[in-house]
Amino acid sequence: MEHVLKLSHLTKKYGKQTVVKDVSLTMEPGHIYGLIGPNGAGKTTIMKMIAGLTSPDSGSMELFGEKKRLDEMRSRMSFMIEAPFLDNNATAYQNMMYMRYVRGVAKKERIGELLEFVGLSDTGKKQVKDFSLGMRQRLGIGMALLSRPEFMVLDEPVNGLDPEGIVEIRNMLKKLCSENGISILISSHLLSELSELCTDYVIINQGSIVESLSAEALSEKCRSYLSICTNDMNGTVAALSERLHISGYKVMEQEELRLYECLDDVESVSKAISDSGYIITRLVLEEESLEAFYLSLVAEGVH
Ligand code: ATP
Repeated sequence: MEHVLKLSHLTKKYGKQTVVKDVSLTMEPGHIYGLIGPNGAGKTTIMKMIAGLTSPDSGSMELFGEKKRLDEMRSRMSFMIEAPFLDNNATAYQNMMYMRYVRGVAKKERIGELLEFVGLSDTGKKQVKDFSLGMRQRLGIGMALLSRPEFMVLDEPVNGLDPEGIVEIRNMLKKLCSENGISILISSHLLSELSELCTDYVIINQGSIVESLSAEALSEKCRSYLSICTNDMNGTVAALSERLHISGYKVMEQEELRLYECLDDVESVSKAISDSGYIITRLVLEEESLEAFYLSLVAEGVH
């Protein structure tokens, strides 16, 4: 299947400042990519280049496998960059109607369906100026869905939302991806906000991609484990397998055993090892949280 998006060595300068540096990224269809980076990392600029709102200084872009007919391909996508474009003095329905005229799309009935989908069908005469931030973001997403896009680009849609609001949007986007096969590129300045949502994570700092990894690779990196070193690694593994029936472990190159089980029963682990006659030289619970991992990547000077 064709790639949804392919960025090759994209670079963008504002004056003397290079705000996007040699960014390459290929998006598979049906995936949700999280573009994560601190304020000023270049996330919005990348999204604006994808949307055609600004052009790169060098590098190239493909949308749905097309390098040349980008504008045509953009009709298969929709964007919510920076804040959703809403009329504050109108209702959710009126905003949807307006967008329907602007984009010349969709039957009227679709508005009702979409308001239902984004959880705003009961807002009646309430004007958008009285909406909470979460409601505004959901309306923005509903409006972006009017044209039945295959690919959505959403810039910080959960920024400033409370945990409940984040979960609502997360569930909505997951559904769009799993039930409608919509591919999504979503940005955030906090990795934790997008955890349990994305299939792929792209971490960006100071305009450059510092890490790209799948959700599985990320959870592997952020898994807690017992770090165990002894005077006999093979014997230790055999002893723990026999006595505690462990299966979730990895033996690292430096003769370190990483045990992903029994984390709350260190006593049994150490007893099983020493009762088998081995000497423990290290037994430490290592916990790498999502945020700690992210901060280690975007700390100043790391790029
Ligand atoms: P945020 O989370 O704060 O939105 P971001 O990762 O989206 O950050 P960008 O908005 O892409 O970052 O900005 C990247 C850099 O480019 C910043 O240093 C910003 O000041 C600069 N920048 C963005 N737009 C312009 C512009 N139109 N003219 C000059 N500099 C700009």
